[in-house]
Amino acid sequence: MASKTKRIIVVGGGIGGTMTANNLVAKLYPEILNGEIEIMMLSNSPNHVYKPANMYVAFNAYHPHELVRKQRSLLRPEIIFHVDGVESFEFKQNRVLCESGKRYDYEYLVISTGCVPAPERIEGLKEAGDHFYQTKAAQQLAQKLRTIEEGRIFITVNFPKTPNVPHQCGIAPIETTLMLDEYLRKRNVRDRVEIIYSYPTVSQLLRNCLFLQKPTCDVLPTIFDSKGIKYQRGFTLDKVDPGAKIAYSEEGKSQEFDILMATPPIRAVDAVINSGKSEAQNNEGWLPTDFETLKMYGSDNVYVMGDTVDLPVSKAGGTCHNQSPVVVENIASEIRRGYTSAIYDGKVQAIAQMGLEAGMPLWYDYKSDVQVAPPTKLGGLMRKTFNRGIYWAVARGIV
Ligand SMILES: Cc1cc2nc3c(=O)[nH]c(=O)nc-3n(C[C@H](O)[C@H](O)[C@H](O)COP(=O)(O)OP(=O)(O)OC[C@H]3O[C@@H](n4cnc5c(N)ncnc54)[C@H](O)[C@@H]3O)c2cc1C
Repeated sequence: MASKTKRIIVVGGGIGGTMTANNLVAKLYPEILNGEIEIMMLSNSPNHVYKPANMYVAFNAYHPHELVRKQRSLLRPEIIFHVDGVESFEFKQNRVLCESGKRYDYEYLVISTGCVPAPERIEGLKEAGDHFYQTKAAQQLAQKLRTIEEGRIFITVNFPKTPNVPHQCGIAPIETTLMLDEYLRKRNVRDRVEIIYSYPTVSQLLRNCLFLQKPTCDVLPTIFDSKGIKYQRGFTLDKVDPGAKIAYSEEGKSQEFDILMATPPIRAVDAVINSGKSEAQNNEGWLPTDFETLKMYGSDNVYVMGDTVDLPVSKAGGTCHNQSPVVVENIASEIRRGYTSAIYDGKVQAIAQMGLEAGMPLWYDYKSDVQVAPPTKLGGLMRKTFNRGIYWAVARGIV
């Protein structure tokens, strides 16, 4: 790096980091060409995982290799890419220390290291529960769903303890409940397998219901009733007895199960938790993020996005898609004009998978509650094209 070159480091080769590194190259191309700016990505894996496809793995609809690409293949050639996890953030010195022992200085830093499932944070959940938020866990669940002939599948949703910070991908528990119903019907065992969906009390902003946002709360009971899916409000998972196969709630209720399909607690990655910057409860590690500029509070040159933020927006790829242009524009504007100029409005969009075939476009922002289009097979086709192709174009910064 020439001494006058300013380095921008993006940490994390998931969807947020990948699209942001690519978008930074597009935005700052003149400065990159003349050697003023260099873009570097540091990730702890040579691979990029399309995480949402793990829920299809759980229903044997995806082979694990189909959701992985080589990270280098998704990055523009101008990006310097090192497979080297960040061990610690040395914010005061404007540098990061990597697992290799190397240190890299930066002028600007973007943190998009995501979050990790933490079922061990609820007694008995790791031993007795299943989930679909990582590939290996989804494969284990797939084995059980493929062979269950009769019994009870109990679904539990667990929020972070930090107020107003949601679990990963808000709609995923509903998507997978509907997929489960249809999958068991296909297997001709649905009449012998009870499905019970539950939702906790603690993080419900509106009232004691089955989902965070009112329009979805209003329609869910009708949808579940029409499919014979049972539901229980106010079930905040407290602990699980793996031997007896009983889940207990903080509200004093209990539920027996043959399969416990959980949305587990989540936390930030170790390097972020250990940075000492988080003010989140329960050592969850969410970084304090300015809800408009996406800068980390207390820092002039560090941006945070995706699942690592402490904002009250869905931890979703559809969130990164709207945050990335803001981060990129603000860094470019600071370099060229000396001030930030873009504002994140909280926008999130997605196409929810409603059962195995239908898709439901939805969107919302800080000011407007979720708006949905009706679930249709055309929506399902859109979701399929996203899963199989458009996602990779989004990661490359093309869409
Ligand atoms: C089952 C499931 C279903 C989902 N469904 C949807 C959906 O339908 N729609 C939607 O929009 N979103 C969905 N999501 C959520 C979406 O996948 C995440 O919100 C998104 O991946 C977050 O992007 P990110 O860049 O913040 O983190 P990630 O994509 O998780 O990427 C984090 C990256 O950081 C790297 N990393 C971690 N620690 C370090 C370190 N110390 N140093 C360097 N690199 C590090 C990781 O290897 C990874 O490459 C779903 C997620 C799951 C699991």
